[in-house]
Amino acid sequence: MRVTWTGGDLSFRLDAEDEITGRASDEHPVKLATNSCTIGGVPGDAHPDLFAVAAWTVVAPWTRRRVLFDRAISAEVAAALHDGWGVEAGPVGAERRSPGPTLGISYSGGADSVAAATIFPESPFLHFRRVPHRRIPNRWPHYRSDVLAKLAAKTGREVTTVTSDLEYTLAEPRPGYPEHHAVAAGALLLADQLGLGGLGFGYEMGSRWLGGGRYLHRYTPDNPMWSPHGKWGRLFAAAGVHLVLPVGGVSEATTMRLALNSDLREQVRWCLRGTDGPCRDCGKCLYKELIQAAVERRPLNTPVTAERPFARKWLRKPPYGGQEMIEYGLARVPGIENTLFGPALDFFEATEESTSWLDHCYPPAIEEIPEAWRAQAAAYMTENVGMMTEAETRRVENWGS
Ligand SMILES: [Zn+2]
Repeated sequence: MRVTWTGGDLSFRLDAEDEITGRASDEHPVKLATNSCTIGGVPGDAHPDLFAVAAWTVVAPWTRRRVLFDRAISAEVAAALHDGWGVEAGPVGAERRSPGPTLGISYSGGADSVAAATIFPESPFLHFRRVPHRRIPNRWPHYRSDVLAKLAAKTGREVTTVTSDLEYTLAEPRPGYPEHHAVAAGALLLADQLGLGGLGFGYEMGSRWLGGGRYLHRYTPDNPMWSPHGKWGRLFAAAGVHLVLPVGGVSEATTMRLALNSDLREQVRWCLRGTDGPCRDCGKCLYKELIQAAVERRPLNTPVTAERPFARKWLRKPPYGGQEMIEYGLARVPGIENTLFGPALDFFEATEESTSWLDHCYPPAIEEIPEAWRAQAAAYMTENVGMMTEAETRRVENWGS
């Protein structure tokens, strides 16, 4: 793989052994669409390791044996690429980048990233805004990235918006991030300008510890994507931008509660299909409505019926990603037996007691936050959430077994 940056324009050329099909770090199969993309709103000069790691978030799935960058990288980043992916990376010759003092927040506007932002009220936001690719048709005509950018601007925070078409480098399963970390490509290129030493993401306990998302129902202390000692955590750290998960120890019910109780409540938006608020009629809205109804202890309020294809995902026999929140909702939403979730009650014996661990913070998630920001996260969790008991901690560690 050969990588070339011209300002914020990335192009790459596959070597003979590279392939246009591959797997992202979560094992999901992916297929390449095109070999160029652009990142707007970033400076043309940054430490070469930042360019290298930003490029790697796009080219990792296709690279088999080696990656040659257009500028020399540090020995530390080369070692992280070798240890994590088994690739020879070069040329080597730069001094490593020292982490800056600032924690940026990768801000999506969803409840999880709003909760992360609430813990660090002085942190600047980095917002990734999707724009069309000049050669590939727009397959998201319904998706209002402009709405989110406007909401981000209303938060009162320092917001740096990065525009990018990098999701169009992916053909299958659909346009999207080649690696989840590609959402941070622009933030990496801005790290010198903003003095970043860490980047906070809204990944919550399900994504970090319970094998959520595309993983299935298992405890994942060594999660390769989000643990600090995983291959991505080590690569980002080598470039002086630590991965930080401020809400990695709490469930989506807790991030929902924190976000809806925060100053940013009016800006929380997990669905971009609607123009004037969430559409209420997609899979994500249904899932979030179950969580919100549980948090607010009120009946489910949704137009969705069990016949809708997207509703079936959470009505199947378990296991599946997000299952802990289905159990939480089933145990707490009044009248749930008379809703489309009613049949799912047959699969679980969830009670308030058996799901109460999802209202507290998993202590190892605080311990793995870099020292510069750990005390602030710990104090926030102690005051606003409460730490798990040992018995609750075991619920996390026995998840899926
Ligand atoms: Zn929706």
